[in-house]
Amino acid sequence: MMLPFKKCPVCGGELKDKVVEKILHGGNHTAVLLINAEVCFHCGERLYPEETVRLFEKIRNKLKRQDLSGFDPLGLAFKVDKKWFNKQTQPTANRAFKLGDYCNV
Ligand SMILES: [Zn+2]
Repeated sequence: MMLPFKKCPVCGGELKDKVVEKILHGGNHTAVLLINAEVCFHCGERLYPEETVRLFEKIRNKLKRQDLSGFDPLGLAFKVDKKWFNKQTQPTANRAFKLGDYCNV
């Protein structure tokens, strides 16, 4: 299979064949798979061959239809409850943030 790009279409960086973890959503469901992608060394952009993109679409549709054949359970996915979230953030809500209070995680 050939990709239409030799260089990253976003930044022109070098692409390298890598196995990546792809997360797909369909309806309320999520599926994870390990798949080969061309990954940009510079900006991290991922490029997938057309057949892989079609496979992603197929998986999304399966999830939407709740057709879970061929999928193994992998723990549960949760949505953080708004009440719980507000309780966690309340103590800091009233004070002004300084720039140094922010960090990358
Ligand atoms: Zn790039």
